[in-house]
Amino acid sequence: MPDGTRSPDPEDNEQAALAEVARRYAVAITPAMAALIDPADQADPIVRQFLPDAAELETQPGELADPIGDVAHSPVRGIVHRYPDRVLLKLLHACPVYCRFCFRREMVGPGGEALSPGELAAALDYIRERPAIWEAILTGGDPLLLSPRRLGETIGALDAIDHLGVIRLHTRVPTVAPERITPPLLAALATDDKAVWLALHVNHPRELTPAGLAAIRDLARAGVALVSQTVLLKGVNDDAATLETLFRALVKARVKPYYLHHADLAPGTAHFRTTLGAGQALVAALRGRLSGLCQPSYVLDIPGGHGKVPVGPCHLEGSDAGGWRVTDPAGRAHAYPPLRD
Ligand SMILES: *Cc1c(COP(=O)(O)O)cnc(C)c1O
Ligand code: SF4
Repeated sequence: MPDGTRSPDPEDNEQAALAEVARRYAVAITPAMAALIDPADQADPIVRQFLPDAAELETQPGELADPIGDVAHSPVRGIVHRYPDRVLLKLLHACPVYCRFCFRREMVGPGGEALSPGELAAALDYIRERPAIWEAILTGGDPLLLSPRRLGETIGALDAIDHLGVIRLHTRVPTVAPERITPPLLAALATDDKAVWLALHVNHPRELTPAGLAAIRDLARAGVALVSQTVLLKGVNDDAATLETLFRALVKARVKPYYLHHADLAPGTAHFRTTLGAGQALVAALRGRLSGLCQPSYVLDIPGGHGKVPVGPCHLEGSDAGGWRVTDPAGRAHAYPPLRD
């Protein structure tokens, strides 16, 4: 080391790196999640999901600012229309927590404004004018951060669109900020015609606190159908025992595990990504050991906006004789005969 220089204090370096992470990406945790942090746990899954880490400054080749191609499919502000029968309606950019692995991390944050009244009207017109749209998916940002009044107005407008069958909300609020699930909010979710489905983002069984479970119960009693989405995350839930506990706890709470997402190629998230092979091995391990109700579909959102596809282990192979080879949950192969016309 040249004379006159002092090696920087590693703690100062760490502080500077965390300040840089916070400058680039939004940071927030709720009281309900902060209360779950176990200071004795060196690998705390709550810390890992919500507290910034210097590793986020390392972007890898192949990581993308818009990993699932939202921008390419956005015909008007607030709408993402990739599949003919359903659209995303992004009402706001804010979330109650900012997940360190977020696939929309370049877009979400407290600074991003909600849709203006004019933009919301244009987005609703877009849905109204297209009879092929059957499902409106409120996402963001987190739609349950809206006031019950504003949320109720949007739900009411969607409820009045004849060709819609389903209003779906993607949210983390019931578990990370259960105090928001109040009677006025439940009233805002009431519809005359549409089915209201809520897709709860939850990654670790510890997130299902008694208050969160009570909020889920209130939603179920209000007639909201519940499914879950989990992101497969290294060091948070990438082991069969954690996933098994999570999926059982969800089904027990009347939430059907819907998707297990392979982590997207968002910038600075390599430390969270498992390999697809590791994901398939986990899903295969759960197949024999968990009730069908507890099995989500393992999906990959193809980078570039090409859509989500199942990427779980395949149990069926064509055999040379024209029939099939089927693998059972224990890994044994069985023949299935070719069918004749
Ligand atoms: C994920 C996603 C949906 C919803 O897909 P489902 O498979 O129905 O859950 C819809 N639109 C876009 C753009 C999406 O990324
Ligand atoms: S709740 Fe969803 S949109 Fe918000 S930070 Fe987490 S992953 Fe991103």
